[in-house]
Amino acid sequence: KCHNELVRLKGNIRVFGRVRPITKEDGEGPEAANAVTFDADDDAVLHLLHKGKQVSFELDKVFPPQASQEEVFQEVQALVTSCIDGYNVCIFAYGQTGAGKTYTMEGTAANPGINQRALQLLFSEVRGKAADWDYTITVSAAEIYNEALRDLLGKEPQEKLEIKLCPDGSGQLYVPGLTEFRVQSVEDINKVFDFGHIKRVTECTNLNEHSSRSHALLIVTAQHINKSLSALGDVIYALRSRQGHVPFRNSKLTYLLQDSLSGDSKTLMMVQVSPAEKNTSETLCSLKFAERVR
Ligand code: ADP
Repeated sequence: KCHNELVRLKGNIRVFGRVRPITKEDGEGPEAANAVTFDADDDAVLHLLHKGKQVSFELDKVFPPQASQEEVFQEVQALVTSCIDGYNVCIFAYGQTGAGKTYTMEGTAANPGINQRALQLLFSEVRGKAADWDYTITVSAAEIYNEALRDLLGKEPQEKLEIKLCPDGSGQLYVPGLTEFRVQSVEDINKVFDFGHIKRVTECTNLNEHSSRSHALLIVTAQHINKSLSALGDVIYALRSRQGHVPFRNSKLTYLLQDSLSGDSKTLMMVQVSPAEKNTSETLCSLKFAERVR
């Protein structure tokens, strides 16, 4: 079953595809055979061999398994810096469990993903700005699990929070009570990440069950304040989705995403793809969906 609900977000969405390498976990038999191929002269196209038939897809760009985290980030960085110019930026990963969402968004200590690199870039960009502009960067982390939105950094992790309209009439959504930390360095950010993780993991008894229904959000706000303006909020939602088979519903998640699509906003969906033969049904579904969103 394809996840049609996100199609309603169609608009400012750019869609990239990333195919992970075949891993040991894919096994060794024919089920682990490679089912995805690329065009040498067109980096927006990929081909999937499904039940003996080749199906081709065109996205905005596709990254083959050998693409490094650096190469992926190179294509994302202009989007990240546009949040300093006042755009709402939303970056999220989509795809079946094990297709590489965590790797792309979070990465590893040796190969950090988009979240880390985006924050690093934001810090260096903000430092380079003229002295009469004062930027404050804050981060929050939330989890949406079974339609309940919870604070991953708060003192009361069990407390359910609500998404509300800002009282200032701007039409922006916000989450009253969501803990915000002001951060000044990548080290600060790392501390925040670790903390969020602990809260998230200690709480689940069944990881598989948990991951298929859970979405983790990292929310970064860069409010640049100069003498005449009180505050201008630019929000980047770097969202690491742990979406498995459960469709995106008319949900808290899509509610939040919808807001980041209104007005001056830019969204990137990274469709994560397993190249393995055994995953082609899911892959077909993800790619069909990706093409429709585009
Ligand atoms: P998901 O978050 O979608 O469930 P993961 O990010 O955990 O999937 O990826 C599943 C496995 O594949 C992990 O072991 C991860 O390290 C590996 N992996 C995913 N993408 C890549 C990649 N581009 N390069 C190397 N390994 C990858």
